[in-house]
Amino acid sequence: MLCLKVDVFQTFKRSCLTIWVRAKNTMDDLNLHSPADANHEPAHEPSTAQSAPTVAAVSTAPNAFAQMGLAKELLAAVHDLNFTQPTEVQLRAIPLALQDNADKPANDLLVSSQTGSGKTAAFLLPVLHTILIERQALEQEEAKEWALKVEQAKANGEELPKKPRRKNPTDVRHVKPAFPSALVLCPTRELAQQVAKDAIDLVKHCKGLRVACVVGGMPYPLQIARLHNADLVVATPGRLLDLQRSKQLHLSKVQFLVVDEADRMLDLGFAEDLADIHKLTESRRQTMMFSATIAPRIQQLAARIMRTPQRLQIESTQAQKSNIKQILFWADSQQHKRKLLDHWLRDTTIDQAIVFASTQIECDALAEDLQQVGFSAVALHGALSQGLRNRRLQALRDGRVQILVATDVAARGIDVPSISHVFNFGLPMKQEDYVHRIGRTGRAGRDGLAVTFAEFRDRRKILDIEHYTQATLNAEVIPGLEPTQRPSRAPSHEPRRGKPGGKSFAGAKRGNGFKPRGAART
Ligand code: AMP
Repeated sequence: MLCLKVDVFQTFKRSCLTIWVRAKNTMDDLNLHSPADANHEPAHEPSTAQSAPTVAAVSTAPNAFAQMGLAKELLAAVHDLNFTQPTEVQLRAIPLALQDNADKPANDLLVSSQTGSGKTAAFLLPVLHTILIERQALEQEEAKEWALKVEQAKANGEELPKKPRRKNPTDVRHVKPAFPSALVLCPTRELAQQVAKDAIDLVKHCKGLRVACVVGGMPYPLQIARLHNADLVVATPGRLLDLQRSKQLHLSKVQFLVVDEADRMLDLGFAEDLADIHKLTESRRQTMMFSATIAPRIQQLAARIMRTPQRLQIESTQAQKSNIKQILFWADSQQHKRKLLDHWLRDTTIDQAIVFASTQIECDALAEDLQQVGFSAVALHGALSQGLRNRRLQALRDGRVQILVATDVAARGIDVPSISHVFNFGLPMKQEDYVHRIGRTGRAGRDGLAVTFAEFRDRRKILDIEHYTQATLNAEVIPGLEPTQRPSRAPSHEPRRGKPGGKSFAGAKRGNGFKPRGAART
């Protein structure tokens, strides 16, 4: 019986180690290098010759980030990322989030800001700063206590105390449940992975600060292993609660809760999970909620989970999206749209592109179709396994795939600077998804082009998008591929030639909200 137990334990240990190694490879594939690894690999220790700009170098060149009082390790990371000045949301949210003193509880923040505004760093930087400063204070305290112990031993002529040996983190016996101090909730796995990646970039110079990403569709043992000692957990709500219920993760020490893209969170039916997580982290000291809009339902959610939050409205979108040119092509039918897309995809200025489809079926069919005519295209939607989704996204990031055909599952969280074009082959269900979709291009200071194909029966949706974005989508035509019909309204702009080789007629503006999200799955 004992033998059997030992045997079972050994098998479990072996499989956990295998999973650990595989997990590491997967994370490497995903480029999700955690500082967790850095903690255990001497090659990643700070201040080696290769480590890019040093903390000291940054501190000699103060900018608005430095003036916010952020820790020098974070300033170094910000410098490495080439963030020379804060974006508006960062400039306004970080100082408010950092205002934390003994007399007053920390400010809760309710921020409306769009994708691409730099909101991820706006919530990560203050949270990481506070964790880091508190950790450093604790370490100093411990170092003092240790020095005192050594002094006392010397004075008493006793043997000097020995520091406990560092435990091998790959040994399953040392894997303990995590007690993170910060939790970031995201509505989709892709967004959570992107936020975790951003966090890992930001803690690059912070020794011992660990980030873990918890999303559905990944093997449990892998996530449990990676959660070990995590300070900041970025998660989708379902998997987070699964791990919490199986006691792999404890939320009782969470000090900071961030709800990212709260509007999408409610769309996807996470309201109850949010309520549960709110209860489990009730002793936290700060909550921040970011949402594209602060609609009444978001205000209700804020009232439930926040203490009289400070509200920040970051003016959207046109000014920030001025580097993204938006154009529209009217089509007679689905086949006509397909011909327009085909014409566009042969444009040699395309570096990489995302083609958005309305449904998973349309997404698969279109990707297959494009592959058959020789394009380097793959599909991405919510019915695919998480492993496959990760691999396909990585292939896009690595430039091994040129065209990603996706549903709105990819509308948020994909940050690939070489995406030069976004095509709306199928229209989004909601206007805000249009803004998120086109925000996949024009990243990292580049220009982008967002091309929308619409049938005349979609006219209402186009008007709603124009109303929401407060911008007119200029319609253009491709010679030889003109629609047989024309919109009933008169053109409000002079025709102009578009790319590749189009003439334009402008759309009118008006409209109200879309109907609630339909049954289509992403
Ligand atoms: P986000 O809205 O957080 O998804 O950020 C959009 C993009 O802006 C990402 O590629 C960030 O790396 C980048 N970004 C964030 N903050 C800054 C900044 N201060 N300066 C330049 N780029 C930034």
